Amino acid sequence: MKFAPTRAPLTGETLASLSARLREHGEPAYRAKQILDWLYKKRARAWDDMTNLPKRLRTWLAETFDLLPLSLVHGKQSLDVTDKLLLELGDQSLIETVIIRAPQDGVGLEHSRKTICISTQVGCAMGCKFCASGLMGLKRDLNAGEIVAQLLQVCYREDARTPRARAELASFDNIVVMGMGEPLANYPAISTALEIINADWGLGFGARRITLSTSGLVPNILKLADNPIGVRLAVSLHGATDEVRTQIMPVNKAYPLAKLLPAVKTFSEKHGRMVTLEFILIEDVNDSLDQARKLRDIARDLHAHVNLIPYNTVHGLEWKRPSLARQQKFVEVLREGRVSATLRREKGHDIDAACGQLRLQTEKERASF
Ligand code: SAH
Ligand code: SF4
Repeated sequence: MKFAPTRAPLTGETLASLSARLREHGEPAYRAKQILDWLYKKRARAWDDMTNLPKRLRTWLAETFDLLPLSLVHGKQSLDVTDKLLLELGDQSLIETVIIRAPQDGVGLEHSRKTICISTQVGCAMGCKFCASGLMGLKRDLNAGEIVAQLLQVCYREDARTPRARAELASFDNIVVMGMGEPLANYPAISTALEIINADWGLGFGARRITLSTSGLVPNILKLADNPIGVRLAVSLHGATDEVRTQIMPVNKAYPLAKLLPAVKTFSEKHGRMVTLEFILIEDVNDSLDQARKLRDIARDLHAHVNLIPYNTVHGLEWKRPSLARQQKFVEVLREGRVSATLRREKGHDIDAACGQLRLQTEKERASF
């Protein structure tokens, strides 16, 4: 389903598209750069902040564009330093953006590694059996402006934390496209958003520090491999054989491992970068040592890094995470096979950080009014 806002979000415009709109309106194209500078560099929050633009231009801009297509409903800070922003879009849909601050040993929080996790759809159509976003199905795609605006909201939140200096987005270490939704099922919007996030006239964030996670839409993995913006790729594998993967990820029927793995290899060869394989550990579903050995072989062949994620409980689902001992055994099989592997300690577990859960809970509360 498409949402057609009455005014286009300014955060969805590229320098080229905004210049063209201005030219059509009889304005010099250089105004586009000035406007985007106000938005991304000087962080203007209102049209009238853009003081070097003539008043009549500001009036036209206000009629034509939405400065920010989403607003903050609330931010929820967890004990282990995950900061979760619940955002409302123009049609009252809810999405979430998460800031993860991982403290480094022995230094204060201000030196922590900071990651931003953004959403690309409202809900998700892929229907993975363990995922809160999959439970509700797809409501709609986000447009490019709504994807980019999540990062501006994060900047505003950081600005408020550091009142004297404007916080640079560059002070974040990574952006991960791993929130709600399947980014490669919304390719045109994510591709435009990546251009805006990466460009000097936009947010200026380095492509190598952006990771996009997909459940495995093969044709668009190949498209992404040819995209001039060279982001990193993470693949949600979650099963090392078709039998196990199909059980929990319906996408595996259309794109089984025999199609998925060669596409991942193509991506990794084009980019000369290690791809990450994500593997949620779910008790008695995919945590056998046989799965570990098969995963080890796949990772070796792809020269991929493996990120093991203990399953995060989703309200209403039966699955369980394996015991710590079981998790350890699994990771040892990989490491003994000289595969680089991390076992993630879940950040934000105490505030339902798994994908889509905060939104699910709020939607339920709204429905019960
Ligand atoms: N749709 C994309 C990106 C968003 S999901 C994808 O599937 O890759 C981001 C990550 O969260 C995926 O690796 C997904 O498998 C994981 N995830 C979803 N539900 C989870 C849960 N209950 N516990 C732990 N990780 C989960
Ligand atoms: Fe969608 Fe990713 Fe959740 Fe699967 S894991 S339902 S692809 S958001």
